[in-house]
Amino acid sequence: MEKVYNPYEDLLTIIDSVAGMLGYEESDYSVIRYPERELKVSVPVEMDDGTIKVFEGYRVHYSTLRGPAKGGIRYHQDVNAEEVKALAGWMAFKCAVVNVPYGGGKGGVKVDPTKLSQKEINRLTRRYTAMILPIIGPEIDIPAPDVGTNADVMAVIMDTYSMFKGHSVPGVVTGKPIQLGGSLGRTEATGRGVMIATREILKKLHMEPKGTPTVIQGMGNVGSQTARLLNELGLKIIAVSDVSTGIYKEDGLNIPEILDFLSVRGTLLKDYKGEGIKFISNKELLELETVVLIPAALENQINEANANDIKAKIIVEAANGPVAVSADPILKDRGILVVPDILANSGGVVVSYFEWVQNIQSLAWEVENVNAELEKVMVKAFEEVYAKSLEKNTTLRNSAYMVALERIVNAKKVRGIFP
Ligand code: GLU
Repeated sequence: MEKVYNPYEDLLTIIDSVAGMLGYEESDYSVIRYPERELKVSVPVEMDDGTIKVFEGYRVHYSTLRGPAKGGIRYHQDVNAEEVKALAGWMAFKCAVVNVPYGGGKGGVKVDPTKLSQKEINRLTRRYTAMILPIIGPEIDIPAPDVGTNADVMAVIMDTYSMFKGHSVPGVVTGKPIQLGGSLGRTEATGRGVMIATREILKKLHMEPKGTPTVIQGMGNVGSQTARLLNELGLKIIAVSDVSTGIYKEDGLNIPEILDFLSVRGTLLKDYKGEGIKFISNKELLELETVVLIPAALENQINEANANDIKAKIIVEAANGPVAVSADPILKDRGILVVPDILANSGGVVVSYFEWVQNIQSLAWEVENVNAELEKVMVKAFEEVYAKSLEKNTTLRNSAYMVALERIVNAKKVRGIFP
């Protein structure tokens, strides 16, 4: 029987394997194999037609060893406890690899937000916030956007939390609208980080960005900002996709036109009528002949089943967990380089950190400042991970996890175990 994909088991596999490579004993790192705290909530919502629906919600603090828990909130029909746990764990490693002073957390509600009205989403968000309220706060756990949520949802969380506290608490969430203390550059930050990671890996391989064939799976916030920035850098984006379809054009898609087309809420690529484009399936998109492949949607897109059919030379993980652990050795054997999610998509949480710092200090940075600081943090982390991969003669995923695990384990060592 085929093994069911469990992202949390994937996380444990990597932790155990790099801990072994670092020569750790079980008790050196066992705390980081378990989430510190998991909360499951039931979220009743009055729908527009007067009926009441109850949604499953979660918030997990995976680690608070290096600082408050930090991570997004996902609204998606496939959200489940194991997924949130894995996503929360990935946040702990992501924050450690870029060395921002956070642990890791994540939340989610099992709901298809495209099936809800704006008012229903607001009521869902308010009730979910009320249910997780005891475990969030600017010094405890700071949510942010993820798949299916955005700045508007963060505004509702911030307002709900502030109403309970009796005063405005902007630092309880990041990725907020600018008017509420959101940071300039946050919306594009994950995409900007993916662009930086792609640019840096091409540099290491002595490859020119200009004209490099690139495929992007997913046109949500991360995919579309990545497409825009890589297009500006001169890469040739030959295919992109969303939930409705993939589109392909061998000599390069008109990215500004596509982004403009998708900017209306609810618009889908299947209705795009660009010149010379070909509609392709998700499978065809992933298996295209290309140099760079950027999965920017969900987990487990590349696994044992299709890893042998991937023709890209470089995979830059813009989504969390798009390459399953089972695919890593296959890709490695086939000479395909993977820039791992915890490094490649860390730009979002890095600028979340800048936003939180600005909130604490009641400051508002210029966008140039935000982008310059992001550039510094990402390039430094990239260099550290790259150097470690050479030193240990291993994949970038293993080396990124090593850099992160060492930081987490060292924090645990100096803190000790309570009591
Ligand atoms: N959801 C994003 C991620 O997976 C951002 C998290 C944050 O900014 O806290 O990295």
